[in-house]
Amino acid sequence: MGYRSVATNCIVRVIPMRSLSKQQADLCRFVREEAGRCWTDMLQAHIESRGGKWLSSLDLGKMYKGQYRLHSQTIQALAQKLEANVDTARELRKTEPEARYPYHPKQYQTATWKESAIHWTEDGKLLLSNGRNTPALVLPVPGEYLDADICRVELTWRANHYELCLTIDTGLVNPPLRESGQIAGVDLGEINIAAVCTEAGDALVVSGRALRSAKQLRNKRHSCLTALLSRCKPGSKRYRRLAKSKGRASAKLERQQRDILHKASRQVVEFCRENDVMALAVGDVRDIQDEVDLGAKTNQKISQWAHGQFVKYLSYKAREYGMSVGQIPEDYSTRTCSFHGGVAKHAPRGRVYTCSGCGAVINRDVNGASNICSRALYGEYSKVQVRTIMYLRPIKLGRCRAFDTGQSCLL
Ligand SMILES: [Zn+2]
Repeated sequence: MGYRSVATNCIVRVIPMRSLSKQQADLCRFVREEAGRCWTDMLQAHIESRGGKWLSSLDLGKMYKGQYRLHSQTIQALAQKLEANVDTARELRKTEPEARYPYHPKQYQTATWKESAIHWTEDGKLLLSNGRNTPALVLPVPGEYLDADICRVELTWRANHYELCLTIDTGLVNPPLRESGQIAGVDLGEINIAAVCTEAGDALVVSGRALRSAKQLRNKRHSCLTALLSRCKPGSKRYRRLAKSKGRASAKLERQQRDILHKASRQVVEFCRENDVMALAVGDVRDIQDEVDLGAKTNQKISQWAHGQFVKYLSYKAREYGMSVGQIPEDYSTRTCSFHGGVAKHAPRGRVYTCSGCGAVINRDVNGASNICSRALYGEYSKVQVRTIMYLRPIKLGRCRAFDTGQSCLL
């Protein structure tokens, strides 16, 4: 227990807690509230220490040990989370000086249990210990997890219900990173989730239409419900019912999005494996929103664009095949012609890049992906020429159909 010497692969399984008894739900709420209180206290202490020697997670863990109705490891996990957030902010500030260190107090916070706080009851329920003076949280989970090597459990709130995130050690070890093979460029987008292009010029486009329509539906529902909500009395029966539907719509979108992004990243990784890829260079779109105000509609699209989530899924799936994933700058990649290197004045309108210089006509995301691949390989654009394109569509419910258009035209 506790110590794991070999870096084995962990997977995360998310289990919705939909039919909890009032007692269970109350305890979930209490634990998350207590975690929020602990977090806020630690944060305050950390902010005060920023004038001199900054507190480490070890300091914080010691200071607050035993002061909350939580398992000692839950408190420790909060201290570690705070430290990790501080480290991320510090890293970020190297490139973005306006990034802030954590400062936001929280009423609720994710509670984490580690190995010595995780047990099973005799009737196969998960028992999460909250220290000596608080009842343990006993939650039902599907039987398949009984034999799993669970090393971490987190309790989160997702739109309208609690979720348990189980981190399970599969015992499998990732292969060493590949040392030979192709480089592939990945362009992330809103219409197409991703376009990939290998250095040999073979490209794949994964459509994001299913995801887009799910988002549009949810936004429509939301604006409709918001309008209705504004007309009724807060706290009334109708108000509560409408607020609940709103939560349900969000929760559904999150599930659909997760499912689609998992499938899309799997398709990208399988394509790369078939094409003997050793490393993926992903165009970095992290600061896209900071630069310009793109108008309410586009801003909404971009803020709902889960590229971080996608890159995370892509990274761990690629790593299982020994492929590495890195992010590189992608400025002007959509405007530059991947065939002759000319730079257009504007980003292309619509889905097709038409070059006014050499007359090339190509799918705009594939054009971007090949430029990103070229930049990763040679440090400049337009050295990789696209020769084939395959279109894939991630389908929402269960099935995935793939089709190779087989056409030589590059649209
Ligand atoms: Zn051109």
